[in-house]
Amino acid sequence: MEARTVGDRPISELPKAHLHLHFTGSMRHTTLVELAAEHGVHLPDALVEDWPPRLRATDERGWFRFQRLYDIARSVLQTPDDLRRLLRETAEDEAAEGSGWLEIQVDPSGYAARFGGLTPTVELVLDAAREAGAAAGVGIGVVIAANRIRHPLDAKTLARLAVRYAGRGVVGFGLSNDERRGRAYDFEGAFRIARHGGLLSDPHGGELLGPASVRECLETLKADRIGHGVRAVEDPRLLESIVERGVTLEVCPASNVSLGVAATAADVPVRTLYEAGASIALGADDPLLFGSRLARQYELVRAEHGFADAELAELARQSINGSAAPDDVRKRLLTGVDTWLD
Ligand SMILES: [Zn+2]
Repeated sequence: MEARTVGDRPISELPKAHLHLHFTGSMRHTTLVELAAEHGVHLPDALVEDWPPRLRATDERGWFRFQRLYDIARSVLQTPDDLRRLLRETAEDEAAEGSGWLEIQVDPSGYAARFGGLTPTVELVLDAAREAGAAAGVGIGVVIAANRIRHPLDAKTLARLAVRYAGRGVVGFGLSNDERRGRAYDFEGAFRIARHGGLLSDPHGGELLGPASVRECLETLKADRIGHGVRAVEDPRLLESIVERGVTLEVCPASNVSLGVAATAADVPVRTLYEAGASIALGADDPLLFGSRLARQYELVRAEHGFADAELAELARQSINGSAAPDDVRKRLLTGVDTWLD
């Protein structure tokens, strides 16, 4: 077989969309340290001198530690200005890496107590996202995500709230946290509300569990996109139906390696998924905990899977096509991809 020629066009100049990024997880590490000092929050060594933390979430204890670090990080976000700063800096980082459209995922329940309830939290996030996006020149959509280890009724409440802001900044409905402790199946009602309200169905699945979990996202939650989904490779028929339905997989190589889902970046099945015809949107998931942002995911795919520039451009197109970006943004970014390749 002819060897693929790996190119050297700058990844940060390749226009793309970023579809898998969590709110707290998008924070700059320097900002975490500064806000912790400002608010008197004690950070564990894993978030200061030993950052980025060494994690392993393939067992429950490892996942619990990951969540605990995430909760500590979230606790530094105490004022509306902190949220605005996080979004402003995230938008700047996205722009610097060629991301022209960001969909950021947030579970407002994690902030509601501090910001006056669920509705004011969502309104604050949407307003801050609009402001940050306009300043950095990046379109930002918000995915409201339910926590799968909480009660499905809480998810329904969030879905109703999310739908009220459909077309006004909220673009999708997600489901996050430990797949092993909350089946997609139980959240069918919440996702029905979200879909009927015009939101994309965008649950996590196929990260910590295998094909059965992905299939529930597909069949029961009618997923338009799946967070991770990498373990779909274990079931060729499932992968086939992902391709047939045009479902986009939000593949996050650095996250998979950090959490032990894959041993190395070379073991993340990006090439297999790509060759099977699946649509892929590379994502950073939680740069704050995994130590790398969006451009690095494309670099990894180039270095570890030998993606040529034309193939990286195709991945960028898939991220844009899988997004909820308005037509004018989509068109501008797709044209930019062609220019990058010329
Ligand atoms: Zn995620």
